[in-house]
Amino acid sequence: MVRLVAGQGKAQICKYGSIVKTYKIEINGQVQGVGFRPFIYNLAQKLELKGHVYNNHTGVLISTTCTKATIEKFLEDIQNNSPKASVIDQMSLHEVPYEDYEDFRIKPNAKGAQLNLPLTPDFAICDSCKSEILDPNNRRYQYAFTTCVHCGPRYAITQNYPFERHHTSLASFEMCPKCAKEYVHPQDIRFHSQTNSCSTCGIQLQLYDNDHNLIGKTTSGILETVQKHLSAGAILAIKNTSGYLLCCDANTKTAIQNLRAKKKRPNKPFAILYPSIEQVKKEFRCSRKEIEALQSSIAPIVLLKNTQHTRLSTSSIAPNLKHTGVMLPNSALLYLLSNSLKTPLVATSANIHKSPIIAENDEVAKQLKDVYDIVLHHNLPIKYPQDDSVLKYAQNNRLVLRRSRGMSPSHIGVSLKTRKCILAMGSNLKSTFTLGLLSRCYTSQYFGDLDAYEVFSRYKSSINSYLNLFEAKPDTIIIDTNLQYQSSMLGEELAEFHKADVVNVQHHKAHFASVLGEHSLFESKDKVLGVVWDGTGLGEDNQIWGGEFFCYQDRQIKRLTHLDYFDWIAGDKMAKEPRLSLFCILDKKEKCKEKFSKVEWKLYNQILQNNTLKTSSIGRLFDAAASALLDCNFNTFEAEASMILERVAADYKGKSYIDLLAGAESISGSLLLDNLISEKEKGINLPKLAASFLYTLALVVINLSKAEDIKIIACSGGVFQNAELVNILSELASKEAKYLKINRNLSTNDENISFGQLMYYEHCII
Ligand SMILES: [Zn+2]
Ligand SMILES: [Zn+2]
Repeated sequence: MVRLVAGQGKAQICKYGSIVKTYKIEINGQVQGVGFRPFIYNLAQKLELKGHVYNNHTGVLISTTCTKATIEKFLEDIQNNSPKASVIDQMSLHEVPYEDYEDFRIKPNAKGAQLNLPLTPDFAICDSCKSEILDPNNRRYQYAFTTCVHCGPRYAITQNYPFERHHTSLASFEMCPKCAKEYVHPQDIRFHSQTNSCSTCGIQLQLYDNDHNLIGKTTSGILETVQKHLSAGAILAIKNTSGYLLCCDANTKTAIQNLRAKKKRPNKPFAILYPSIEQVKKEFRCSRKEIEALQSSIAPIVLLKNTQHTRLSTSSIAPNLKHTGVMLPNSALLYLLSNSLKTPLVATSANIHKSPIIAENDEVAKQLKDVYDIVLHHNLPIKYPQDDSVLKYAQNNRLVLRRSRGMSPSHIGVSLKTRKCILAMGSNLKSTFTLGLLSRCYTSQYFGDLDAYEVFSRYKSSINSYLNLFEAKPDTIIIDTNLQYQSSMLGEELAEFHKADVVNVQHHKAHFASVLGEHSLFESKDKVLGVVWDGTGLGEDNQIWGGEFFCYQDRQIKRLTHLDYFDWIAGDKMAKEPRLSLFCILDKKEKCKEKFSKVEWKLYNQILQNNTLKTSSIGRLFDAAASALLDCNFNTFEAEASMILERVAADYKGKSYIDLLAGAESISGSLLLDNLISEKEKGINLPKLAASFLYTLALVVINLSKAEDIKIIACSGGVFQNAELVNILSELASKEAKYLKINRNLSTNDENISFGQLMYYEHCII
C-alpha cells in the first residue's frame, strides 16, 4: 500500500514542458541486506530517473525529481518487482522542496534516530552462486563463502544496523580490486553486496586433526582430506556460517553409533544433509510444500516420511520413528562439501548435551575435542549463532518445530498499538525473548534450556545485544508467573536495573495469546475457544497446568475446563518416565503394577499418599498412553514416547476410530486410559488404538466447541507438534464448520511464550 503524505512540494516545468516535482519515497519492511538499493538503482536507470537512494534506521529512502506519471510507474515497479527476499510493510510518498539532481546514485547510509526496521534473517545460498562455485572457469570456483545480494548470512554476522559492510563481521575483510569492481558495477549481482568477498580477499578455511595439526588450507585439498576421513567413519566438526555442525557419513552405521555415544545421545533423531533435491525425492515421500520448504531461502530441516527407497540406516538415525529430518546445503561451504561427497551426511548442531550451538574456534576445541576427529575452522566471526530451523507438515498446516536460522528474528507481521518498549522474557525450557519496540515485534531465535549455564549466558547476552542495538531501555518487562524460571529471575533483575514495571502472565494464557496474536483474533467479535496442551506450566491455583480449555472474548481469557487433575510426583522424573504418568492417572493402579519393581511400587504408593501437587498436563497423558499401549516406559529424550505414539497412529489407515470417552466434553484421563487398556486387551490393533486416542481428544475439543457454541478454535502448546492429532482435529473441525487456528510462524511449543506474553499484555492488560 502506498500512502501519499501531503507535502510542501513545489512544481517546476522541465525543458520538455512537463510539470516535474521532487518526491521522497519511504519504504519500511525487510528491505536491508536483500539487494533493495541495487534494485532501485537499476529501476531508476531504466526510467531515466535522477536522485538518490539510501538505507536509514527505518528502511530505505529514495528522493527523485520527475513527473507524476513517472513516479506512479516507479512505485508500481517497486511493488511488483522488488527483490525476492524483501518484504515491504509500507511505502509512503511525500512531495518535498524541489531539487535538481545530476544523476541517480546510492548514497552512504544515514542513521538518523532509533532503529525501527525488521532485522533481516540469513538466506541460503542461491542457484546462481551455486553454479559459480562449481564452475572451474569462474573466479569463485570452490570459494566456500560465495554470496550475492540475494543470499548469504545476514543476522548471524550483523553487529549493527543499517545493514552495511562495516556493521558486519566482514568489516575486517577488505575487498580486492576485482570484488571492489563488482561492488560498484550496476549490472553485477554483487553490486552493493555487503558480504562480497572471494578467495583472494575473503574468509579462509583451515582443517585440523584432533591433535591440532594443520592438515589442509586449500579448498580442494580440504575437500579431498575430509572425504577420505568421513568415508573411513570419522566425525567432522565444521564451522558453518551460523555455527559449528558435527557431521559423519549417514550410510556408515558405526560412525553414527560412535557420534551417538560421544554426544551421549542414545536415541534422539539426527538430521541428514543431502547433496541435492533430486536425491531427496528419490528416497523420501515428499509433497510440493515440503520440496518448496527445503529449497527456500530458510533451507530448514524438514521431517520427511521414509520409504522403501530410503537408503539410510534409518534405525540408527531416528530410532523407532518413520520420519527423517532432511535438509539441503544452506551455505556455499556445505554445498561444496555435499557435492564433493555426493552422499548424505549426518549434520547436527555442535554442542555438548544441553549447551547451545558453538560458534567460536577455541570453544569447539575446548568442548568437543573428545567428539570430533577433524575440525574445519574459518575466520569469519559469528555474532548470533543459530541452530537450523525445523519444520514438519501436517495435511493443512505447517508446523514449526524450531524457529531459528533463516526464520528469526524477522518480525511476525504484527503491529503493536503501544509505543512503549516492552521486553517479554518467555519460558524456561524452550527459551526465546520478544522485544516490542516502536510498534514492531522482534522474537529471538530458540535458545534452549535456561537451566544450562551456557544457554542462559547466551540468552542474557543476546537480550543485552538487542537492547544496545536498538538503543532501547525497557519500560515494562513481562515474566511468567513461575518465578523459579531463570527467565523470570533475570526479568526481575533487569526491571530493577532499568527501573521498569514487571508484569506476570500465566504460561498457558500466553500460549493462547500467541495464537490469537498470530491470527489477528483479538479483534474477533466472536468468541474463540483456546485449546492449550503442553507438558507443564504453573497454573493460577499453584497446580501444574497443561490440558487447558479457555474462552477469549472482549479482551478477557477465561479458563473453561481442563484435563481432570491427577497427582504429580517425583518432580522431573515424571517427564522422564512415562510409566509414572500412567501410575498417577489410573484409578485402577494395579493395571500398571508389572511396570515397577516391588520396592518402587511400595515407594510410589507411599509418595502418593502424602502428595498434594496436582496436574492437568496432556503431555503426561500422552506419556501414560504410550506406556499403556506400547510399553514406552522411559524417555531418553524429551517427548520420545509421544513421538512413538504419533508414529504408530500414523500407521492406521482406516477411519473407524473408537471414541474412548463416549461423547464427553471434558477429559477424564483415568477413564480414557482405562478404556484404552480394555480395548487393547480385546486384541484391537495398536495403530487403531493409538489413532483412536488422538481422535478421542480431538473429539472432546469439537464437542466442547459445540456445547459452548464457539466457531473458532485456536490451539497452541507443544502437543500440537503432533501432526496426526492436527490432521484428525482439522478434519473433524471442517466437518463441523469450525475454524481451526494453530501457530504458524512460531513453534507451538514454549518458544512462543515470549511473543504470547507480549500479545496478552497488549490486548488483555493495557
Ligand atoms: Zn547468491
Ligand atoms: Zn575479492
